[in-house]
Order: sequence, then structure tokens, then C-alpha cells
Amino acid sequence: MTTAIGVVMTDHIVAGRLENHELTGSALRYPADTRQLDALTAIPGSELVEMLASHVATLAGDGASPVDAIGIAVPGVVRHGVVEESPNLSQLKGTRLSEQLSKVLSGKGITAPVYVGNDADAIAAGVAATRGQLNRLTRVWTIGNGIGYGRWPYVEGVWEGGHITVTLDPKERFCGCGGIGHLEGIMGYRAMRLRFLDMEPEEVFAQAKQGDGRCREFVDLWHRALAAATSSFIHLAGPGRFYFTGHNVGFLDLPVLRGHLETMVKLSPLQSYSLEIMQPDDVTAVLGAGVSALRALTW
Ligand SMILES: [Zn+2]
Repeated sequence: MTTAIGVVMTDHIVAGRLENHELTGSALRYPADTRQLDALTAIPGSELVEMLASHVATLAGDGASPVDAIGIAVPGVVRHGVVEESPNLSQLKGTRLSEQLSKVLSGKGITAPVYVGNDADAIAAGVAATRGQLNRLTRVWTIGNGIGYGRWPYVEGVWEGGHITVTLDPKERFCGCGGIGHLEGIMGYRAMRLRFLDMEPEEVFAQAKQGDGRCREFVDLWHRALAAATSSFIHLAGPGRFYFTGHNVGFLDLPVLRGHLETMVKLSPLQSYSLEIMQPDDVTAVLGAGVSALRALTW
């Protein structure tokens, strides 16, 4: 039997124990109150590491078999166990998370290797695992405050798909990173609030449905931007499966996206892509974090 622990840390922490690639028991969550959205932003990095360790230790003690691998998924640029950039958990920037967590865990008698990855990649891994397609290319867009891009199987790289340039218009400057023309600067929740100072994004999408010209124009731009980014990844890595999830996936109208994509992908070998909406759930990402950590053992 293979045993792993998967942990996802976004605006909250969720952790679960996997046996033979399936979650066992119930997941742990911090904070327990799901309405509390910014519980982690004020917690210093070293305390976050302690919290992760205590979640892992609780789950490690839950079963008889020893833990083979521990997977941690966090938003941002993560390479070689180091969180190089994490806009929403900025206290983690530069943290050698794999090394620090391993150290705290070994003090608790847990010596399984710690693998740290990106949260969107963990969702892609979780989707691939639950659909029995671990041998196929799986890509995920997460639509929320920021725009995340995840892929399975893991390949070395940065893969900040949310910051891909989708327009040459110099007025497109709402991306949180400061870059001009970025996908997140059009689609991200924060960026939409900056663009429409007089209404919330939910109102923009609702008014577009009712025929408001300015809102309709924007909602079309929003879908065209996502189509452009998806088209670029199809032209780079080929067709295949794309999944769409995240807090704001409800804004997405799949037929509209598909219509734009069809105008952008014209080479016939590239037209066999599939698009699917998935409601966001923590379990898929927790599973993916664990599966990624097990897979990393074989590299
Ligand atoms: Zn950007």
C-alpha cells in the first residue's frame, strides 16, 4: 500500500490522507469556518510552517502504515521546494518550504520526503487521478481573484499561464503583477473591480445578460481573453483536455468560449481539444497534492 498526505494552502488549509491514491477519512480544514476568507494572510511564514506540520502529524498518526510522501500545494511560483513568488501569501516569498517543513516534521518523528508544488498543478493532478488519466496531458484554469494555470504531468518550468499576454492594448493594465495586457488583468476578480469602479463583477455579468452594451462588450472580451490563452497553449503543447474551475467559474459560458476558440485554432490536428467546467472542491486538489508527491518519489 502507498500512503501519502496531501495539503493545500490557499486562503485556507485543507489536508487529507491518501491510501492507494484515494482519500481516507475526512479532511482537516483551517479555519473551520468556511466564511472566513483571509485567515492566513496575517500569519507569519514560520507559523504557517508549524501549522502545516501539525496537520501532517495528525494525519500521519491516523493509520497503521507509515507515510511514503507528503505533498504541499501553494499558489504561486514554486521551484525545487522553494516558494519563489506567492502574491496571495506574500509572507512565504523566498521560503524554502520543503526544507523547513521537513525539519519541523523530523522533530515530530516524521521523515517522509516533502514535495512542494503549485496549487493549480495539484488540481490538474487530482483531476487526472480521479479520471484514471494519469498518463495523459491534463490542463486546468482556475478562475478567481487571480487566474491560475495547472498541468499534469509536471514538467520543469514556471507556467504562470494567468500572466500570458493576450492583448497589445496599452490600456490593459489591471493585472496584479503590473504587467500590461495580461490574461489576469482582464479575467481576475481584483482586476475587474479596478476596471468597473462603479459595479461589482457579479453585476457586470448580470447586466450583460440584460443587454447593457458596455457590460456585454466586457464579458465578450473576458471570454476572448481566455480563448486566446487556451489557444496559445494548444499551439504550444497540443490539443487535449482543459478543465475550468475556481471561485468564479460561474462567470464562464462554455459555448461562448468554444465559439471564440474555434476562430483561433484552425490547424486540423489541433482541433481535438475538449473543454469542461468543474465546480471547485478542495478534495481534488488535496488528492492531487498527494499523488504529485508520490510521483515525485520516482524522479
Ligand atoms: Zn500579470
